[in-house]
Amino acid sequence: MKPTVLLIAVLLGVGLSALLAEIQHQSAPVPGSVEVRYPQPVKPAESMTHDEPEGSELPVSDNPRIISRSAYDITPLSEERVRELASRLDPEAYRVTQKAGTEPPFCGNLLDNKKEGIYCCVVCGLPLFSSEHKFTSGTGWPSFYREFDPQHVRRVEDRSHGMVRTEIECARCGAHLGHVFDDGPKPTGERHCLNSASLVFYEKGAELPPESRPIKTEVAYFAGGCFWGIEHYFQKGPGVINAVSGYMQGNTENPTYKDVCYKDTGHAETVMVVYDPTRITYRRLLEAFFDMHDPTQLNRQGPDVGTQYRSGIWYVSEEQREQAEAYIRQLQESGKLRGPIVTQVERAKTFWPAEDYHQDYIAKTGRACHVKDPW
Ligand SMILES: [Zn+2]
Repeated sequence: MKPTVLLIAVLLGVGLSALLAEIQHQSAPVPGSVEVRYPQPVKPAESMTHDEPEGSELPVSDNPRIISRSAYDITPLSEERVRELASRLDPEAYRVTQKAGTEPPFCGNLLDNKKEGIYCCVVCGLPLFSSEHKFTSGTGWPSFYREFDPQHVRRVEDRSHGMVRTEIECARCGAHLGHVFDDGPKPTGERHCLNSASLVFYEKGAELPPESRPIKTEVAYFAGGCFWGIEHYFQKGPGVINAVSGYMQGNTENPTYKDVCYKDTGHAETVMVVYDPTRITYRRLLEAFFDMHDPTQLNRQGPDVGTQYRSGIWYVSEEQREQAEAYIRQLQESGKLRGPIVTQVERAKTFWPAEDYHQDYIAKTGRACHVKDPW
C-alpha cells in the first residue's frame, strides 16, 4: 500500500444541474460532492430494507464498524485477514491485487461484459463498480465513469514508472484495482481503468454472497421546510447512514425543483433518512426532527412560504405511524410549543430524489443554515 493517500474530490456531473440552477436558483451548484445518489425513485414498498448477511466473515477489527452511505460495511480489514483472503486467489488475481500488477490490454474477461449487474472486489467482495456506469473506452481495459459508491474506492498517488498517476484500491481490503484518469465521459469526466482480474461480476438478480450485501437498514421520511438544513443535520446523526433530499406526497411523477415550486404539484420538500436500527431508533429521529423545525407553522418555515415547505412525517409502517402520532401528542401536551402542531402524518408515497445540486448542499457550500443542530 502506498503511504500517501490522496483525497481527491469526485467531480460529479453538473452540466444539466448547473443549467437548472441558473434558471431556478440563485445559488450555483458546487462540484466536488462525494455522495451516493439514488437516481431511481424509491417506493415505500421497496424501501431500503436488506437482510443482514448471515454467516458473514467480515470484518475482523476491534474498531467500530464504518458504514458507507450505500449501507455497506467498509471497516478496513486487518492485514492478517487480507493475507488469508488473498491466499485463495488464482495467481493472476493475486499478482494484480496484491502486487499492483496490470493485465495486458484486451485480455481481461470483463472488458466486453455488457450485462447488467455489479462488479465486486475479487478479494473481499465489496461492490466497487456498476454496469450502469460502464463505457467502452477503447483502451482495452474495463472502464467506468464513476464508482458504485465513492467511499468504496480509495485513491492513492502512484509515482511508479516515472509517472504520477492516481491508483485506485478497494477501500475495505486495499486490493489494487487499477487507475483513474481525467479523460472520461460526462457526467464525471473520469475514467476508472480496471483490471478484470481484480473484480468479480454478479449479474442483476443473482444471489450475492454475504460479504457483497449491504447491512440491514430502515428508512424514514421527514418534511420540515427547506430540505438543505434538515438533510445536513440528519446526515450527522449517529447511526444515520444516508440522508437524501427529495420530493414526496405530490400528484405528479418525476417532479423537478421548478415543478414543485411553480406548478403546484403538491410535493413537499422531504428528506429520506436511511438508518441503522441497531444504532438509532425511529423515536430519536422524531425528536431530532421536531428540534430542527417549527411544527406550529402552517405551510411555511421561516422565510420559506408555500405548501412544499409544509411539516410532515411520511410513515412506511403502522409502527412508525403510531410512534409519530404518540410523539406529537406528547409534545403538544408538554406545553413547550406556543401553538397547535400542524405536522401532517401520512402514508409515504414515492420518494423522488431532488436534483444533484440539492444533495449535501450545506456541506458543499458551507452556507449558514438556520436549522438547529439536534444532536
Ligand atoms: Zn476488497
